[in-house]
Amino acid sequence: MSEAGAPFPLVLSAPSGAGKSTLASMLRQRNRDVAFSVSATTRAPRPGEVDGVHYHFVSEPEFLRMRDAGELIEWAPVHQNYYGTPVKELHRAQARGEHLLMDIDVQGARQIRERVPEAVLVFILPPSGRALVQRLAGRGTESADVLERRLRNAEDEIRAAPEFDFVVVNDRLERAVDDLEAVLRGRKPARRGPEIEATVARLCAEVERELGPDGPVERLRQKGPR
Ligand code: ADP
Ligand code: 5GP
Repeated sequence: MSEAGAPFPLVLSAPSGAGKSTLASMLRQRNRDVAFSVSATTRAPRPGEVDGVHYHFVSEPEFLRMRDAGELIEWAPVHQNYYGTPVKELHRAQARGEHLLMDIDVQGARQIRERVPEAVLVFILPPSGRALVQRLAGRGTESADVLERRLRNAEDEIRAAPEFDFVVVNDRLERAVDDLEAVLRGRKPARRGPEIEATVARLCAEVERELGPDGPVERLRQKGPR
């Protein structure tokens, strides 16, 4: 882990819906010495996404070329697409004296742990299984199958939380950003602690309940396809 004061890459991982993008934007707004890492991906841009800003959108052959040429510090298949962090993102942040904020999945975080020893890894947890479902389903566009797949992935990701340097629970937004800022400034956030294993077990049990016969996913399924 890095010494306090020197800029370092800050890896943020979280199950989809935990609020990672919201927190990353707020952290960036409050801290001018934080730069977003722009990943390469083979997935198609969503409406409003800009090439070179949100992602470098590349074809699969181009992605594989970048990977084989050693242009990616880490890469992983996520949801049937490839994602990877270009080495040049790290070099640019180092040259500018900025913290590099990397929004990557658990597989990528593990690679960063090995290859970039000064990086600090933070896992964002939702406050409860119910809150995770509400945030995921909030958009109202997901089918029961998609919601179920995301929740099952979420459970797998949540189980990896103890591997991370810090865990931040995103209950109240402002408080969660304060915790992230504490990590950035080399202070320990208020809520880390040995109770993480118990928190992970509780959250996984709650997610299972949400997936059960009386849960929202089944209710959505019974309403039929949209
Ligand atoms: P992720 O990037 O982890 O998938 P988002 O940042 O897109 O998640 O957040 C998912 C939804 O949850 C969004 O509607 C966001 O406004 C909401 N959200 C994020 N953090 C909180 C919070 N602390 N309290 C309530 N809602 C939140
Ligand atoms: P999305 O397609 O919704 O933007 O991102 C899907 C997932 O891919 C998220 O969990 C995000 O953190 C992860 N991701 C985005 N960029 C990278 C990357 O460069 N490397 C890895 N390993 N994961 C990434």
